[in-house]
Amino acid sequence: MLRAVEPSRRNFLVGLGRFAAVAPLAASMPWAAGAARAASPPLACPPKSAWTDLAAKVSGGVLTPLDPFFTDVCRPNNLRYDTLPMGVARCLTTQDVQAAIAWVRQQAIPFSVRSGGHNYAGYSSTNGLLIDMSLMAGVEVVDKKEGIVRVKGGTGNALVYKELERLGRTITHGRCDAVGAAGFLLGGGIGFNMRLYGIGSDLMTGTTLVTADGQRHDANEKADSSLYWACRGGAGGNFGINTEFILATKPVETVSVCQLTWTDKQEEVLYELLTRLPKAPNSFGSKVNVNLPSIQQRCQGMGTTVSILAQLHKTRGARLQDILGPLWNSASKRVVKEDIPYWVGQDFLSEETFPYFYQEKSSYMQAGTISRDAVAAMFKAARDQPGTSMPVSFKFFQTGGACNDKAPDATAYVHRGNDWLFSVEMNWWLPTDPSGLIDENLAWQKDFYALANKACAAVGAYQNFPDPTLDDYANAYYGQNLARLRAVKKQVDPGNFFTYGQGIKPA
Ligand SMILES: Cc1cc2nc3c(=O)[nH]c(=O)nc-3n(C[C@H](O)[C@H](O)[C@H](O)COP(=O)(O)OP(=O)(O)OC[C@H]3O[C@@H](n4cnc5c(N)ncnc54)[C@H](O)[C@@H]3O)c2cc1C
Repeated sequence: MLRAVEPSRRNFLVGLGRFAAVAPLAASMPWAAGAARAASPPLACPPKSAWTDLAAKVSGGVLTPLDPFFTDVCRPNNLRYDTLPMGVARCLTTQDVQAAIAWVRQQAIPFSVRSGGHNYAGYSSTNGLLIDMSLMAGVEVVDKKEGIVRVKGGTGNALVYKELERLGRTITHGRCDAVGAAGFLLGGGIGFNMRLYGIGSDLMTGTTLVTADGQRHDANEKADSSLYWACRGGAGGNFGINTEFILATKPVETVSVCQLTWTDKQEEVLYELLTRLPKAPNSFGSKVNVNLPSIQQRCQGMGTTVSILAQLHKTRGARLQDILGPLWNSASKRVVKEDIPYWVGQDFLSEETFPYFYQEKSSYMQAGTISRDAVAAMFKAARDQPGTSMPVSFKFFQTGGACNDKAPDATAYVHRGNDWLFSVEMNWWLPTDPSGLIDENLAWQKDFYALANKACAAVGAYQNFPDPTLDDYANAYYGQNLARLRAVKKQVDPGNFFTYGQGIKPA
C-alpha cells in the first residue's frame, strides 16, 4: 500500500500504538496531568433489573464493567476523556435507539451517543449510559443510476470507503478510517474533495433521526426540512440520534497525489502556498502543515518542516506541478503518484491513528488577509513552543471552491467564503510528559492561536474540531445560523435532553 508519511502526531503514534494499553492507567488517575477533570456528581445506580430490562430491548445487548474488554470498548480517541460509563447499550436498529432513550429518561442518568468516538472534546464520553451506534453499520444502494446510498447511523469511515470503492463512487470524506460517518457528516465534513463537491454534509439529501420524545423523523428537503437543515452542520449530539444518512455520491476518477516537504526558506514557502493555492482549480485539494518536532526528535536534530499533501482529479485538465509553480522544484523532498485509481490515491493520503492526548483550536482564514508579516509572526511564535513527547503542527486545510458555492445560511454549516481552515494542535503522551510541561504547552497553544487569528483576521471555529476552552463557542461554530439552530432545538428538544459542554441550547 502507498502511504504518505507526514511527520505528524498521528503517524508518530503508529509507533506508539503498542503502548496504548497503558492508557487506562492514566485514565484511572483523574488528578494526573492533562486528564479532563470532570466535576460530575455521584450517580444513582440503576437496579440490576433495569439493566436486564435494557438488555432485553436493545438488540446488540448491553455491556457492563463485568464484561471482558469493557475499558477497551469504551476508550475514546482522545484519552483526556477516557471516562468509564456504567454500561454500554449497543444499538442495531432505530427501535433500539428509541428503547435506549426511553430507558435513560426513566433512570434519569446521564448518557452520551457515540459512533466513531473521535470527538476532540470528549462529548461522546459519559459516566452514565453510553449509547453505542458502532454496530449499526452498513451502506446500501438506494438508486444505482443516480448514485444515491444509505449509510447506517453508526458506520465507520473505513466501511463507507470500502463500499463506495465497490460502487466506483465517492463523496467528500476525511483521511481517517476510524472516524464515524455520523460525527463527520453532522458537523460539516471536510476533505480533499470538498473544493470539487462541497463539504460532506452538502451531499446529504436526507437523514433519519430519533428525537428526545422518542419519535422517528425522516428529514429531508420536503419533510422536517428545518431538522434536515440543522443536521447539515449543526453537529452531532444536539438534535437527536441519527440512524441513517442518505448521500448523493460522485463517480470516481483517477487522481494524482503528492507530498512535498520543504526544509529551507519556510516562511516564504508557507506564504506562497497560502496565497497561491486558492487560485487552483476546484479539482485540486490540499492540506498544508508546519510540523514542530517533539522534544525527543529535537534531540535527534530534527527541525521544523513545511509540507503539503495534495490531490488533483485528473479529468479536470491541470497538473500538480503547474499548480505548485516554483514551489514544486524548491521542495527538498517530493513523493508523487500520477494518474492512479482514486482509492489507491486515498491509501496514500489516509492516516492511521491511535488514542492519545490532545487539544485542537481552529478558525477560518481568507488568502487576502494573510501577509508575509503574519506568516513571519507565526514562525517566530512557533519557535517558543516548549515541546512535548509528541510532534505537533499548525496546519491549513484548503477550503474555497465548491465549499463556498452555498450561502452561509443554506445549511447549518455557516463557514462559507473562506480559503483555509486553520488549526493548531497540541498533543502529548501522559505517561511521559509532566503536568507542568503540558500546562506550559497549552498556554503556548492559546497564545499562538490568538496571535494567528489576529495576524490573519481569522474568524469562527470548526464545530467538528470542538475546543472546550473556546470563548463564545456557539457564535464561533454557528455564527449567523445560531438563532435558527436554537429555534429548531426548542422545537424538537425544549427540555435540552440532548446536551453536552458545548451543546446548542433551546431558544
Ligand atoms: C484522527 C482524526 C481525524 C479526523 N479527520 C477529519 C477530517 O478529515 N475531516 C473532518 O471533517 N473531520 C475530521 N475529524 C473530526 C471528526 O469529523 C469529528 O471529530 C467527528 O465528530 C467524529 O465523529 P465520530 O462519530 O467519530 O465521533 P463521536 O465521538 O462518536 O461523535 C461525535 C459527536 O457526535 C455525536 N454522535 C455520534 N454519533 C451520533 C449519531 N449517530 N447521531 C447523533 N449524534 C451522534 C456524539 O455524541 C458527539 O457529540 C477528525 C478527528 C480525528 C480525531
